[in-house]
Amino acid sequence: MTPGSEILHLRPIIATPVSVPMNRPLGTSADRVESAPLLRLDLETREGVVGRSHTFCYKPGIAKSLCPILSELGKALAGSRLAPVELSERIAGFFKLAGLAGPLSSAASAIDVAAWDALAIANELPLAMLLGSAPKPIPAYTSNGLGLVSAPEAADEAEQLVEEGGAAIKVRVGRSSHEDDLTVVRAVRDRMPVGIHVMADYNQACSFAEAMHRCRGLDGEGLYWIEEPIRHDDYLYAALIAEAVHTPIRIGENFAGIGPMRAAFDAVASDDAMLDLDRIGGVTGWRNAVALAESWRWEVSSHLYPEASAHLLSATPTRHWLECVDWASPILQQPLSIIDGSVTAPSRPGVGIEWDAAAIAKFRI
Ligand SMILES: [Mg+2]
Repeated sequence: MTPGSEILHLRPIIATPVSVPMNRPLGTSADRVESAPLLRLDLETREGVVGRSHTFCYKPGIAKSLCPILSELGKALAGSRLAPVELSERIAGFFKLAGLAGPLSSAASAIDVAAWDALAIANELPLAMLLGSAPKPIPAYTSNGLGLVSAPEAADEAEQLVEEGGAAIKVRVGRSSHEDDLTVVRAVRDRMPVGIHVMADYNQACSFAEAMHRCRGLDGEGLYWIEEPIRHDDYLYAALIAEAVHTPIRIGENFAGIGPMRAAFDAVASDDAMLDLDRIGGVTGWRNAVALAESWRWEVSSHLYPEASAHLLSATPTRHWLECVDWASPILQQPLSIIDGSVTAPSRPGVGIEWDAAAIAKFRI
């Protein structure tokens, strides 16, 4: 039998909550995280193929609370064909009355990613190739650390991050005063070698009026982009800020499916989308979103999940930047690395992740 010619059928889902200490804790205007609460998912078929994924749950309690829900869902899906689009329809039906949003939606997306991973493994292809493209070098920026720390600390940390290989770094802003943000941005910018971009992320810290004041104040500081200055779904205000500020304003990590992405496009709130794999609907949702992005000529960057996103961006016609965080690296046997400013997804079958069983046992919650 040739690879992939056999129709595979699912066994129940295995979900394991872990809390993985971060190499660089991250304090943003929204929260401080020192240990990444991740939910590891294994989607096994009766025929022995295993698809893997993980979802970042933001809070340890969310990771743990999803396990019994996924157990119920897994029983309902057991015996189904390994066919990701069909599965996403079945999962939407399973949660129809409860409402597929927030952490439930992220978990559903993670199942979708695991299903695509299993399908690629069964076909003995890297995920990118299953989607129609060989894995390509994707320009990558380092998004570890650089939280709301002092200017000297930020400048030192930025230098260390550049040594890890990224072609850009991202500094968090949204301190109590704009002047403090400005001091940090200038301190970091002054230490960066020529050719290294500096991005800034407010994590939705500002009111509209405050964002207009602050983003105009950051214009001329050489920032590559300013991310989420205001509440993520205030698209009309985002459009006004983008109009008033020369530095590109970037949003998209909170597009929960293509509906909000369409609303942002209609409001002219962006000319670019930073897609989060688990908010946009997994691989299935990403494929739909990038088709829209291509039709609008929007560039697409990724948010979190660099392991799978490196494959997806390879197959995204308007690909732009890969956001690189190392939060899952301690539980992976072969973590990604940035080489000469880029990440290339591995050429082994699937997404190419294997769990480090000892690390999973150690960090289990
Ligand atoms: Mg962000």
